[in-house]
Amino acid sequence: MRVYLDNNATTPVLPEVFDAMRPYFGERFGNASSIHSHGQETLAAVEQARESVAELLHCRASEVVFTSGGTEADNLAIAGLTQPGDHIITSTIEHHAVLHACRHAEESGCEVAHLPVDRFGLVDPDDVKCALRSNTKLISIMMANNETGALQPLEEIGKIAAEAGVLFHTDAVQAAGKVAIDVSRIGCHALSISGHKMHAPQGMGALYVRKGTHLRPLFYGGSHDRSRRAGTENVPGIAALGKAAELAIGGFGRGDDKKICALRDRLEQGILAQVEDAAVNGASAPRVPNTSNVYFDHIDGEAMVIALDLKGLAVSTGAACSSGAIEPSHVLIAMGLTPDRARASLRFSLGKQTTPEEIDFALALVPDTVARLRELSPVYSKQTLRI
Ligand code: PLP
Repeated sequence: MRVYLDNNATTPVLPEVFDAMRPYFGERFGNASSIHSHGQETLAAVEQARESVAELLHCRASEVVFTSGGTEADNLAIAGLTQPGDHIITSTIEHHAVLHACRHAEESGCEVAHLPVDRFGLVDPDDVKCALRSNTKLISIMMANNETGALQPLEEIGKIAAEAGVLFHTDAVQAAGKVAIDVSRIGCHALSISGHKMHAPQGMGALYVRKGTHLRPLFYGGSHDRSRRAGTENVPGIAALGKAAELAIGGFGRGDDKKICALRDRLEQGILAQVEDAAVNGASAPRVPNTSNVYFDHIDGEAMVIALDLKGLAVSTGAACSSGAIEPSHVLIAMGLTPDRARASLRFSLGKQTTPEEIDFALALVPDTVARLRELSPVYSKQTLRI
């Protein structure tokens, strides 16, 4: 048996999503800009997908810009909404797609403030208010953290942005499809999503841009997507994202999120009941239903990932993009964990396809593997001897 609990890294494409994109690799190959019937057929698919994504985000279809993924959406928002001399407020726990886009903005003449988080991984809206300056142009705070799943107090931050007349972007890559999103409740001007975190393929995403918000494009070329994103549309990817959005909406109606949450909670409780010196990082924060980040003191997270993988369970030590890096997770460090504890943390992330049997499988493996690795750990044996 192989069990995949690394859905925050990427999710499998659902069969319905694959079926939705298949015709656009074959008989429906037209360029959506062509005026003949081949083009009109694909244009209709693009516009239908735009409607579906808009329904998921509770915005107008014309406010959806298709991108090559979450990274492009984040970069488009940050580079497209600011210019040299502007001040940007972001947080220390953002994904590198935001952190490095902000670093680039800084190198280009912007000033960037990085807000801290508390031990639950949450930004304090008062800190946002205090960081505002006369030249603050943009606040970029993520909706759900990719490592802990912590949901940030976006509505409060949105109100602060509105009162200050500042633009507000949120990276909702790890929230889309997991929790309901309503851009007007959040009060944001831009919001990023990524297909492959919600059962559509990799290399597909979207940026919501509120009507009337001036956005400079990243690329120059054709007038695709109302001149906000030049380049011939990735029609199969767009059709897939539209289908994934429809399935996510249907899933909320059926209570899929509650089922996933119940499985996640069973996993956490089962692990904590069997393993000592372990706890959930940021357990008390409001979280997306699929994510659990657990520290197991005196183990090495990378060794644990490899040991579990050999037995058929795929999990992760933190952000997939920095997997393999020796540096402890910047998110867990920002929450106040020691580097050792951050390195001893594992992320379990469930998907729509996760079953109760798979959770049982994980529960049968994890405690034994922790015990075996701790037996091999000189630090742990010394501690045990002392006691
Ligand atoms: N933002 C967050 C919070 C993410 O978790 C990721 C991917 O891990 C990204 C942005 C980047 O998205 P993509 O992989 O689609 O470029």
